[in-house]
Order: sequence, then structure tokens, then C-alpha cells
Amino acid sequence: MIKRNLKQMRLLLCVMLSFIVLGLSLTGCAIDEWVLEGTTDSTASKELPKEGQLRVIFLDVGQGASQLIISPSGRTMLIDAGNNDQEEIMVNYLKQYGVKRLDIVVGTHPDADHIGGLDRVIDSVEVGSIYMPKIQSNTKTFESLLKSISSKGLKVKSAKAGLALDWDDQVEVQMIAPVNASDDKNNMSAVIKLTYGGTSYLLTGDAERESEQDMISSGVDLHADVMLVGHHGSKSSTSPAFLKKVGPKYAVIQVGENTYGHPKQTILDRLSKAGVDVYRNDLDGTVEIASDGQTYHIATER
Ligand SMILES: [Zn+2]
Repeated sequence: MIKRNLKQMRLLLCVMLSFIVLGLSLTGCAIDEWVLEGTTDSTASKELPKEGQLRVIFLDVGQGASQLIISPSGRTMLIDAGNNDQEEIMVNYLKQYGVKRLDIVVGTHPDADHIGGLDRVIDSVEVGSIYMPKIQSNTKTFESLLKSISSKGLKVKSAKAGLALDWDDQVEVQMIAPVNASDDKNNMSAVIKLTYGGTSYLLTGDAERESEQDMISSGVDLHADVMLVGHHGSKSSTSPAFLKKVGPKYAVIQVGENTYGHPKQTILDRLSKAGVDVYRNDLDGTVEIASDGQTYHIATER
């Protein structure tokens, strides 16, 4: 009898230990991969779709920019795709997030650190529509992108202020720049505002002061809780007037190792003075700021 009890107890202990070990290892994995902020909810999974959530993922592409956006119903949008040397990484990101089709692709402006990886992306997944501003570049990178676009039978739609993009019934997608034509590529950047319930995001490309001023003058509502800091934190962007109009709570700087001194200390100081929480790809890895329409769930890779 005693023997039997001992045996049962040992078995029970063994089962309990296994659960503890399993629990610990699962928790360990989650923490390793994503550090969750302000929530114990799991926004850790990279898989598609997250019912009811708008996911804005600032992909770590080193010095460059790329935002993958997944709508509450699983629609997808990609804004920029990093530099040429990030092509493989971009294709892998899309696989990781389970993206086989991009409903909307935006090339904010024809600089290599934004459109470099777009040709491979377009070659490798199905694409609904593509938007780019009306400005050309005579680089191989740009030509290669145009080639990929035409071999997919796609036609570039002109990115400009005033467009409302048809994407997901629950999410408003407004293009708010370029307001005016310019021969400066950065100032031709497509700028997109997303609104989902009471939450909002402003994705600024490399728009500089001139474009920021145009957006202010256009009278559009610039307020957004989440802001992509313009031009990788260069001091040519995030002018005090613009920052005030946007009034973000959270900001992301898409930056990697670079020789430009991005992000500039002036801009970091300006953001900190305005009480903005700043996330950076060079320090945090990929940053995801998801919304359920009311609150934000922030997850960083490291
Ligand atoms: Zn750039």
C-alpha cells in the first residue's frame, strides 16, 4: 500500500515537474523573442491573422525603412522594403509573417534605402496595387523596380495627398503627402495616415521640413499617437511645428549603422522634451505597435 502511494506520488511529482519545466521553457521563448510592453497579452506571434488587430510592424532593415501592416481582417500593406542588400531578409520577413499576397505596396520615394528590396518582394508575392510618387530616378535600383512592376503586369498608381486607399472596412487609410510637386525626392515622399477606431499612425517616409509645412498648410488632421520619425531622425525632418501638430505618444526611428549621424541628438532631444516614447530598430530590432482600436500593444524584438 505504502509502496503504491509512493509510486503514485513520484508519478505526480514527475508530471508536476514536467509542467513547470514546460511552462518555464515556453515563457522563456516568448521573452527571448519579444519583449512585451504595457500588456501581458500575447502579441508575440508573428502569424497571420490577428483577429481584430491592426498590426504595424517596423521591420528591422538596418539603415533604411520598411513597414509591414496587417489589417484586422488580414489584409496586408507594405510601405518600402529597405536597401538592395535587404532583399533576402525582406522575402524572409514576409514568409515569417505568413504574407503571400500584398494588397497594397507603397514605394514612398525612389531612394535605394526605401525601394531597394521592393523588386524582389514584387517578384516573390502576389501584389494588388502599387503606389509611388510622380518622381523618377535614373538609378539601376529604380529601373530594376520598374521592370519587376511591369513583368507582374502592374500599373503604378500615383501617390499624392488627398487619396483614400480602399484596404480594410475598419481602417481608414489616407495619403496626406506629397501635397505639392517638388524635384526633391525626400519631399515627394508618400505619407500615410492610418486610423483604426480611436487609434492612429502617421508613416512619414523621408518627408522633410518643406513637405511637413505643406501638410500643415493643407489643413489635414495630422494628429497621430504613433509616428514614424521622418528621414531616419535626420534634423531636416520632425520640425517643431510638425511634431506639435502630430502630437505622438510613441515614435519609431528606422535606423541602422550609418555615416549620416542618424538619428540626430537634436531630434532625440526634441522627442524626449515632447514626452514621446521612442523606439529604434538599431536598438530594439523589429518593433511592432498593434492596436485593437483602443489601446496599443508594443512588442520589440530585443
Ligand atoms: Zn531614407
